[in-house]
Amino acid sequence: MKALTFSGGVHPSGEKELTCNQDVKVMPPPKMVVIPLLQHTGASCESLVQKGDKVKKGQKIGESRALITAPVHATISGGVKEVRLYNHPLGNKGLAVIIESDGFDQWADDIKRDDNFFRLLPQEIRDKVRDKGVVGLGGAAFPTSVKLTPPADKEINTIIINGCECEPYLTCDHRLLLENYREIIEGLKIIMRLLDVGKGIIAIEDNKLDAIKLLSAVIKMEPNIEVAIVKTKYPQGAEKQLIKALLGCEVPAGKLPFEVGVVVDNVGTAVAIYEALRDNKPLIERIITVTGSGIKEPQNIKVRIGTLFSDIVVFCGGLQGDIAKVIMGGPMMGIAQYTLDVPIIKGTSGILVLTAQDTFAVPAGPCIRCAKCIESCPMDLTPYLYGLYGRMQDYESMGKYDVADCIECGVCAYGCPAKIPLVQYAKWSKMEIAQAKKKKIEKKDKDIK
Ligand code: SF4
Ligand code: SF4
Repeated sequence: MKALTFSGGVHPSGEKELTCNQDVKVMPPPKMVVIPLLQHTGASCESLVQKGDKVKKGQKIGESRALITAPVHATISGGVKEVRLYNHPLGNKGLAVIIESDGFDQWADDIKRDDNFFRLLPQEIRDKVRDKGVVGLGGAAFPTSVKLTPPADKEINTIIINGCECEPYLTCDHRLLLENYREIIEGLKIIMRLLDVGKGIIAIEDNKLDAIKLLSAVIKMEPNIEVAIVKTKYPQGAEKQLIKALLGCEVPAGKLPFEVGVVVDNVGTAVAIYEALRDNKPLIERIITVTGSGIKEPQNIKVRIGTLFSDIVVFCGGLQGDIAKVIMGGPMMGIAQYTLDVPIIKGTSGILVLTAQDTFAVPAGPCIRCAKCIESCPMDLTPYLYGLYGRMQDYESMGKYDVADCIECGVCAYGCPAKIPLVQYAKWSKMEIAQAKKKKIEKKDKDIK
């Protein structure tokens, strides 16, 4: 079968062999966790606990009344040591609940298996997915209950489970496909039933032949589910590029996949939905890839949310070599960390530790108008203009060249022979535009008052 794909993109070296053939190991619960109250796209939670409180594993400790948000839960049992600002892996500091383990790792009383979950009504399913704090585990951490609530005027006809893992180094989704395929399929069936959709697709890149073979065999008895093979290319796992590759349709600029009748969820999210319904289990742990030349024992591990990078590194044998960079996620879209004293959050797909030999810095030069960035941009943008206007700090002009549609995939910067940090300029411009918009609204509100 021919592998499907989209136009543009790049083929960075995979570097997946470090971890892709090892079974997932379970890291024992740490002695302390730091659980940020904002781990998702949307509004931050408010703490439901305070210093000195006793908590059990799975107990809700943070909640918000906002529409786009997700609660957070204790990931170990023990005592609340503090609720305070702590290093956040997305940058700066964020309010976090710090829990010290009591060594019992005891579940909250209401976390019990429900074998009748298939009787739940659609709204009950959405409520439970929200209550259990499920968010997209592919990276963006968008609250899943919102994704499962399309506008009334949008008819959904296809559910895509995203098993592409196009970021170099990361293999946690590959391992999930091999080790948790039953839960993935059950999660997909729940979403299909919830949205009354007759077509489910599990998309897998053609560098994961073992997963393609396994899933294709398992779904033989599922007439409404198919496995689709997509080309190994970056950013094949980005929602819009995946929809284009599989269905040939474009999600309009600034719109969500609902617009073309599609809902896309990551493989890990499908498992989390299933566990939320069957086991009443909140999202308290996930599988991450810990890898790179700076890690002694690269591997995939199941780890509690809130575990510090430093504890994870120790579990993986410690650091080695001349450490140059620690990244949360992959090298294309990941976020560089300046300390290991930072917790993993729901959206953490990996910890990548690179040594000096992997990351020699090349200073940026002038644009040579080679057009490589334009040819490879999967969103058909003109990234060299972001470099040009970015250097002049002219974010308004960048806005005119559709910077809002940039998915921050980093493909342009990856291939740029002049090493211009195009994606950083695009991110900066988007931030400036958003801030200018916010100020305008605030001024308008003030004028009205
Ligand atoms: S401009 Fe944005 S979408 Fe296009 S390649 Fe660069 S980072 Fe990706
Ligand atoms: S890839 Fe770099 S050098 Fe080439 S046109 Fe784009 S910005 Fe200029």
